[in-house]
Amino acid sequence: MNNVTLTIDGQKVTVPRDYNIIQAAKRIGIEIPALCYDPNLEIVGACRLCVVEIEGSRKVQTACSTKVKEGMVVHTESERVVNLRREILQLLLDNHPNDCLTCQKAGECLLQKYAYRYDVKFREHDGARRANFVDTSSPYILKDDSKCILCGKCVRTCAQVYDRKVLSFAGRGFNTRIVADADYSLEESTCVSCNRCVTVCPVGALIDRRLLGKTRVWDGEIKGVKCKACDYGCNFEVLSKNGKNVAVRAKSPTEGRPLCLKGRLTTELLYLDKPETPYKKEDGEFKETTWKEALGLEDIFEKIASTEDKK
Ligand code: SF4
Ligand code: SF4
Ligand code: SF4
Repeated sequence: MNNVTLTIDGQKVTVPRDYNIIQAAKRIGIEIPALCYDPNLEIVGACRLCVVEIEGSRKVQTACSTKVKEGMVVHTESERVVNLRREILQLLLDNHPNDCLTCQKAGECLLQKYAYRYDVKFREHDGARRANFVDTSSPYILKDDSKCILCGKCVRTCAQVYDRKVLSFAGRGFNTRIVADADYSLEESTCVSCNRCVTVCPVGALIDRRLLGKTRVWDGEIKGVKCKACDYGCNFEVLSKNGKNVAVRAKSPTEGRPLCLKGRLTTELLYLDKPETPYKKEDGEFKETTWKEALGLEDIFEKIASTEDKK
């Protein structure tokens, strides 16, 4: 028997036996909150926001790492789990800048969404907060450590592509941070600006810099497009405002689909009304470049020109 039937918040649901509780709940329209979970990434159960009560178990369980079982009875919004979620969210907000008004991520930030859902607010306090370190070295990515909630999704998604593994955790306890290589800036590091990490970051700790100030999620239209630069056909989104296509961003990385800078730049050139200057990394430094060079077309154009000259 490949399916199991369980009860979640009083509703019966039948799902494949390799599902976890988050996936089973989603089938019946119940969203269990989670910050570190992504169905395409290794499950780590780090944020603990997805805790649920299971009848017969004294401890609460993380719904991302608990597989469904025949006859299981799950409560996803009991008083006990709601109180635990509120505590987790409060600790995160206490260590977070109160910056939603101007944050590029507002409107699609999961921390903002769940704080609203569970009525948790920023509090005044004199305790320590995360260091306000912003890496502005890349023209493609803004990395703001003060907003990082250490979910690790960026680390796991970068490592999914063979040979990348640029990001990792460094430091201990309160001083834990996400770093590029041996704590280099993004410019100095081996980062290839694919923006996979930006795409999975649930908060405003990693931002697509070419989006900054142009539009936010509620403020325009978003259209999904396939990249035309190679056969992978990675997914990108074109963001429009007032009838103009203003930005392109990488969307939904999966294993085996690398996303890449060339693909994003190709999509920018094809779809944007005013494409921004492209940059290329050379010897650990970002430099302005031409579209021909950014897209690796210089040799092709030269060859076409010399072939036509010979006619
Ligand atoms: S990351 Fe989220 S919670 Fe933090 S300032 Fe931005 S929108 Fe607000
Ligand atoms: S942009 Fe790509 S290569 Fe760079 S850190 Fe993010 S996932 Fe890794
Ligand atoms: S940068 Fe974003 S994805 Fe990476 S650990 Fe921090 S919050 Fe998570």
